[in-house]
Amino acid sequence: MERDINITLRFKLSIGETNLNEIVYGIKELRDGLMLQILEQILKSYDDLISERLSHTEVYPSKARKGLGRHVCKDDPTGRFCRGRKVYKRGYRQEPRKIATVFGELVLPIRTVSCRRCGARYSPLLSALKIGAYARKEMNFENEVIEAVIDTNYRRLIDGRSIDISLGGIHNIVVGSDIDDRFQEPVSAKDLLAIMADGTGVKQKEGQKGELRTVIGITKSGRVEPLGCFTNTPWSEVEKVIKERIKDNERYKIPFIYDGEPGLDTFLADMTQSQRCTWHGPRGLYHALWEDGLKKKESQADTDKVKQLIGIELPKEDFQILKEQDKEPVRIKYESSKAEIQELIKIFYEKGYQHGASYLEKLSERLFTNIELWLKTGVIAPKTTSLLERVFREIGRRLKKIAWGWSDAAVTNLSKMILIKQYSRDKWISYWKEKLGIKGNFNIRIVTVQI
Ligand SMILES: [Zn+2]
Repeated sequence: MERDINITLRFKLSIGETNLNEIVYGIKELRDGLMLQILEQILKSYDDLISERLSHTEVYPSKARKGLGRHVCKDDPTGRFCRGRKVYKRGYRQEPRKIATVFGELVLPIRTVSCRRCGARYSPLLSALKIGAYARKEMNFENEVIEAVIDTNYRRLIDGRSIDISLGGIHNIVVGSDIDDRFQEPVSAKDLLAIMADGTGVKQKEGQKGELRTVIGITKSGRVEPLGCFTNTPWSEVEKVIKERIKDNERYKIPFIYDGEPGLDTFLADMTQSQRCTWHGPRGLYHALWEDGLKKKESQADTDKVKQLIGIELPKEDFQILKEQDKEPVRIKYESSKAEIQELIKIFYEKGYQHGASYLEKLSERLFTNIELWLKTGVIAPKTTSLLERVFREIGRRLKKIAWGWSDAAVTNLSKMILIKQYSRDKWISYWKEKLGIKGNFNIRIVTVQI
């Protein structure tokens, strides 16, 4: 079915006085109102077409009525659907339906019909549009509210349009989202370069302090893969959920990076290889040598040396893919550092420093994990959780502005949305397309615009 919409616009301009800004401004002011009227016209026409088909069954075969006229049988206590597809037109409802849309509030007159079979009165347009009998908003609207909340500019969305939504309404949209059930598809361990986890405090209802915990993966192509957001959830519970999502984890040992949070010492221990905090190395060695009977003065030179050897500086950026020639200086430093550590272990054994030697031996296995990975793949797996800290700052900044008094579900959902929108944009877009049911059943284009 194809139809034309005729739009007549009228403008007045003062010749010699009008500038470009004023013209653009004037047209911009038209935008939402014009869209709203176009929408109303299309819906009225759709309504007419539907009731035409349902009421003139002598013209339209049942094939032409497919998908139309679904309604519940009159007076059926079990709520069964009626098989009748013939109706009488019964004019319009007294009250038009008000629906919040992205363009503002749509006031739509709704036609009613009565079924010739069971006598039920209903509005065939509402079921054709796949909005519930009581829906007060369309999904694009929900999409825009969520986008606006994520970008912390929801005021701008609401101001200047006849959209009436309170913070409570926004809260309900966020909590009602199915985001927490979605994005649970398995992630293959072989695509992951590293896993990071950390927690941060968030303000919740009545000023209570909550804890937001986030786990992310970094893929071999250097992308952030959100693995999960949790609010006030024990790490053991978080671990269970993450484990379920990661496939093939027994075959690949992924480095796990965290910032010394005690609850994370054994997190994912059977599937990851934790990167030792490089800061702790020299301190631990001092302690081990002390057990071997060395005073601080006597071990100082060796611990300083280790400190210097493991201080291989990776580029400052959080993570990125680097060129081959940038690797060379790091490779040279890494190889000589590793050799010197081996040499030091040998010396310790010779001198009988058993504790110091075995400590350093163990340390050396883990100490260069990130550098080895970086040399192998060219993607920097950070020594610290600075990437996660940045993610948290982004989440925190938004939560602070909008999340006062928010429940666990809202904090969890919102952080998940922020992460996915920011770092998995393609998935975010297809999630919304699916939710909106966009399948190519409606196309509209501009045919001519002329004076
Ligand atoms: Zn019926």
